[in-house]
Amino acid sequence: MSDILSFLQDHQSEMEETLLRLVEAESPSTNKELTDQCGIVLQKEFERLVGGKAEIIPQERVGNQYCFTYGTGEEQEQILIIAHYDTVWSQGALPIKKENGILYGPGTFDMKGGLTTTLWALKALKEFNIFGKRKVVFFVSSDEEVGSLFSRETIEKLAKDSSMVYVPESSISPDAAVKTSRKGVGWFTINISGVTGHAGIDPWAGASAIEELALQIVEMKKLADKEKGISVNVGLIEGGSRPNVIAKHAHAEVDVRFTAKEQAYELEREFQNLTPFLNGTTVEVSGGINRYPLERNAEVIMLYEQLKEIAAGHGYELKEGSSGGASDGNFTAGLGIPTIDGLGPQGAGAHSDDEHVVLANLPYRAALLAEALKKNI
Ligand SMILES: [Zn+2]
Repeated sequence: MSDILSFLQDHQSEMEETLLRLVEAESPSTNKELTDQCGIVLQKEFERLVGGKAEIIPQERVGNQYCFTYGTGEEQEQILIIAHYDTVWSQGALPIKKENGILYGPGTFDMKGGLTTTLWALKALKEFNIFGKRKVVFFVSSDEEVGSLFSRETIEKLAKDSSMVYVPESSISPDAAVKTSRKGVGWFTINISGVTGHAGIDPWAGASAIEELALQIVEMKKLADKEKGISVNVGLIEGGSRPNVIAKHAHAEVDVRFTAKEQAYELEREFQNLTPFLNGTTVEVSGGINRYPLERNAEVIMLYEQLKEIAAGHGYELKEGSSGGASDGNFTAGLGIPTIDGLGPQGAGAHSDDEHVVLANLPYRAALLAEALKKNI
């Protein structure tokens, strides 16, 4: 067994304490005051366990964000770890309980488990005095669950100086596979104007925005391709005013998912080119690509192979998988920086009532990241 893994296993109960402190400091993205308190807990844990530079990036609307640095590094390029400490849970919505070696509670799996293993991975590197030519930058945002509006710029800026990115987001259940691909996502809004009229007196004179929208929906759905992993979901529609009035307005909101960057460009073009079928109506499209996909390219496979080898040394097989959901890893992957995601500990139930983490897995996940960093710094 590796020294790093046995060190971490010896400290499992302390790792559990770190995790519990973070989980007890509830941090719904939408409550700045509360979230900031969790940020302070996080900063204290970093300073206590790792030491080093902790830069606070103050925020007005969401919780403050943190940029922690491990090592000094002579080289310009760094290794980046991105995470978030906000959760989808409002205060008190989900009870915290420990049962049979499992911790249940808000954010345990998404992603305070990953915060814990990252802090302890850095702690282990420091313990063994492992420093390299590159520094490790650990960025923690506070608004990932609400779209990363106030962190995207920082993430992209940090990514440009990084040779690789590790994302300790929740793993794939049940066997804690890492994510070597994630779909990209786009959001489009379709606004349709028609010509109103009396449905009884002059039914043929108007142009119904609702009828036009119905035709557009059929058209948009043609862009979906199950084989290629492209999906189109018209998730919201509204329009019209009364049954006896020809609809003047209709509106739809659409979520598209895709697996390759070229598909994103193509979809964007197709949406922009939607044209009306009915005389007298107009179709206006806004929105676009929100996150490019994390594609399973040669560099990602290399990062995965490296992790797999480390895991084999720890006596288990590390699996890989893909996710239809997006994370901040999509931003860094979108810039062409090799990114591997889903490095968080074993567990399940992100955003659901049984959210939990398997505590015995914490040392393994921390050791996995620590040894990957050791190889690459
Ligand atoms: Zn997450």
